[in-house]
Amino acid sequence: MPNIIFLGPPGAGKGTHAAQVSEIKGIPRLSTGDMLRAHMKGDTALGREAKAFVEAGQLVPDSLVIEMIRERLKEADCKDGVIFDGFPRTRAQAEALESIVQIDKVLNLVLSDEAIVERMKGRRVCPDCGYTSHTEWLKGSTDCQACGGTLVMRDDDAPETVLNRLRVYHQQTKPLIEYYSGKGLLRSVDSFGTVEEVAERMRKALE
Ligand code: AMP
Repeated sequence: MPNIIFLGPPGAGKGTHAAQVSEIKGIPRLSTGDMLRAHMKGDTALGREAKAFVEAGQLVPDSLVIEMIRERLKEADCKDGVIFDGFPRTRAQAEALESIVQIDKVLNLVLSDEAIVERMKGRRVCPDCGYTSHTEWLKGSTDCQACGGTLVMRDDDAPETVLNRLRVYHQQTKPLIEYYSGKGLLRSVDSFGTVEEVAERMRKALE
């Protein structure tokens, strides 16, 4: 029952690679970012609480995300393991997670701030299904290749918000590298290069 965490700064490719690994291993990807966006889109109480934090590039309070994950993990499809994408992002979240499930591996995607800012500028996502692409591959198209929807730039991918999200990452999430390294669970993967190159490094790190 593998429970794998994808750690790394925003825009390092966690979503893309977590989705691939989820498909290969046949276990669900739990993206707290996607879950929060779905709540915001559905205008739920949780979505309304989270909105201002997400839009400012700040972290949503720990208690909200921890509860959201706790509930999700009760669902039947999680019983054979899951991939955590974008969770935990703070020490408190990591400790809470440990009291719910055992973690088997933490994949840490490594990418410089400069490369992240460049990648985020061209990132395009589908608001309907979450599919992610990049202007470099889209060649002017805005069609979602997964569901036929229209790809857009995420509001929080605007350059000034990206800088804020990077600051938050360095302050609150990066310390988890040491935390999981100390537990012997961390595998770092260089995220510079093409999706295929990174996927190959990922495959080796998961062996
Ligand atoms: P992501 O799609 O993972 O980049 O997340 C988008 C935004 O959702 C983040 O900038 C935060 O505002 C919020 N968010 C996602 N995951 C978490 C988390 N584990 N803890 C707190 N806030 C989160």
